[in-house]
Amino acid sequence: MPPRRITAGGLGTILLQTMTIHEFQQLIERIYYERDSGRGLPATFMWFTEEVGELAQALREADKQQLAEEFGDVLAWLCTMASIAGIDLQQAAVNKYAQGCPKCHQTPCICPEPGLR
Ligand SMILES: [Zn+2]
Repeated sequence: MPPRRITAGGLGTILLQTMTIHEFQQLIERIYYERDSGRGLPATFMWFTEEVGELAQALREADKQQLAEEFGDVLAWLCTMASIAGIDLQQAAVNKYAQGCPKCHQTPCICPEPGLR
């Protein structure tokens, strides 16, 4: 299957196969930032939790197409909240996980049981 392309406003055409988290966050900013930032972080967080609820429902129903859409929605809402808060989501993730588990520093994690990350 050839790589899919999307046109993303001022970002030009992006190869979806090579889109980074940073590029995706920028894309979501171009689409929604003005409206989402105007609503504010607390109200936007409520929308995010609603999408998480929809993801929970999709996980129970096991419809793969619906599940993929809900994962996409949750990631988009996570990106928009990070943008409002002034956080580069990719940098935050790399800072925390690039060296493996933040607690035991191993990949895979060898902590006795999963706890708070
Ligand atoms: Zn660990």
